[in-house]
Amino acid sequence: MPTGTVAVVAETEMTPQPATDDGFADEVEFTARVEGFLADHCSRISDPADDESEAHGLVRTRAFQRALVDAGLAGLTYPTQLGGAGLTPLHQEVFTRVSAGWRLPNGPLAISHGMCLPMLAQFGTEEQKARYLPDSISAETIWCQMFSEPGAGSDVAGLSMRAVRDGEEWILDGQKVWTSGAHYCDFGIVVARTDPTLPKHQGLSMFIVDLREPGIEVRPLVQMSGARGFNEVFFSDARIPAGNLLGEVNQGWNLAVSMLMFERVSIGAGGGALNARRGPELAALARDLGRATDPVIRQGLADLHIREEIKGYIGQRIRSSVAAGRVPGPEGSIAKLNGAILARRTRDLAMSIIGTAGQAWDDGDPSSDVAARWSSFCISAAGMSIAGGTDEVQRNIIGERVLGLPREPDPFKGAPWQDIPRN
Ligand SMILES: Cc1cc2nc3c(=O)[nH]c(=O)nc-3n(C[C@H](O)[C@H](O)[C@H](O)COP(=O)(O)OP(=O)(O)OC[C@H]3O[C@@H](n4cnc5c(N)ncnc54)[C@H](O)[C@@H]3O)c2cc1C
Repeated sequence: MPTGTVAVVAETEMTPQPATDDGFADEVEFTARVEGFLADHCSRISDPADDESEAHGLVRTRAFQRALVDAGLAGLTYPTQLGGAGLTPLHQEVFTRVSAGWRLPNGPLAISHGMCLPMLAQFGTEEQKARYLPDSISAETIWCQMFSEPGAGSDVAGLSMRAVRDGEEWILDGQKVWTSGAHYCDFGIVVARTDPTLPKHQGLSMFIVDLREPGIEVRPLVQMSGARGFNEVFFSDARIPAGNLLGEVNQGWNLAVSMLMFERVSIGAGGGALNARRGPELAALARDLGRATDPVIRQGLADLHIREEIKGYIGQRIRSSVAAGRVPGPEGSIAKLNGAILARRTRDLAMSIIGTAGQAWDDGDPSSDVAARWSSFCISAAGMSIAGGTDEVQRNIIGERVLGLPREPDPFKGAPWQDIPRN
């Protein structure tokens, strides 16, 4: 399992590791093993990143994941019989700590490993785990998350997509949107309404969907950066086996909350490509462009360093909590909000360093690669404040669950979903 993932404690086949205040028995040896592996397969975060096509990125991701499997470093905390390494959350913590200094080519697995894999491990039946976990860990299959709809984003519990039971199948009808990566994914986890007569949070269920099945159409959306990261996914009488239900019927909201928690932790406090430290690369860039003596740039770099350190500690705290068997609550929202703010500060600092060259360049310019990459990051940074629940939604959660402020008024609380007015 790459970083960017909440360590899920494997229920079986844990290798007992005598943990002490100083770590665990083979920590030194394990740390050296991880360092050796990363040195062989990744570049340092202070090195400029390669700009590559999506297709090439996927090939690289899969090759990297296969190398992790071969080295016994994939799916660290998952049982070996399910394709994992059967190690402990302490091993995961070491991996996360060491890999913070490296650029892991695992971006396309952020949702698959950061959210879907822990959901399957936590809520899947034994049959589902045996069927899906090994290929997901090795990246033979890649997964996406299908929650948002045109009429349900922040209020995802209000979603309209229907799932109706028909014998040994469920029939899915409706539309999802902003589905990251669906165009290259094999499977998705989808939430649909199974009982519209219940209040909105109570009539939802979660399903595993094979995106290649008939009745499912994935249509890519083009972003302002020119990238095609999102999709609309249309379900038209799509039939899926009854065995694809994840968890219990009408209990989907509880699972959705868990998945959102995994998402927020993954965005805000995981490691890996999604939220790698960018301070060292920006410091190197400032030196290369002769901006390292500018006092404002130096202040910005120091500020970024401090905030990235804080992000690391928030992540460590959440992972320790998970390792101790606790389910992280609103700290996931704190991590996510902090990650989003950090992304915007990084964007602003990057543009201050690069200057006008970050806004327009000729292909032949010596720094055109750097400018193109950072300008693409800058355009995408705002998305961090929206994905996984907007900054406002995270502030609402923190207000209610950390500060004890009154809940948002809901005039339709307890009303059947079908009676709530919708656009
Ligand atoms: C990079 C990125 C990747 C994404 N990937 C996925 C994915 O893979 N799968 C998926 O299902 N979705 C995905 N999304 C969608 C994302 O979850 C939604 O965009 C997000 O939840 C917001 O929903 P919305 O766009 O419908 O905005 P709305 O909910 O319509 O919100 C509009 C504005 O109103 C504010 N607002 C709404 N409700 C409240 C409130 N109660 N209090 C205060 N302010 C409020 C919001 O903060 C926002 O500013 C992705 C989005 C982005 C940007």
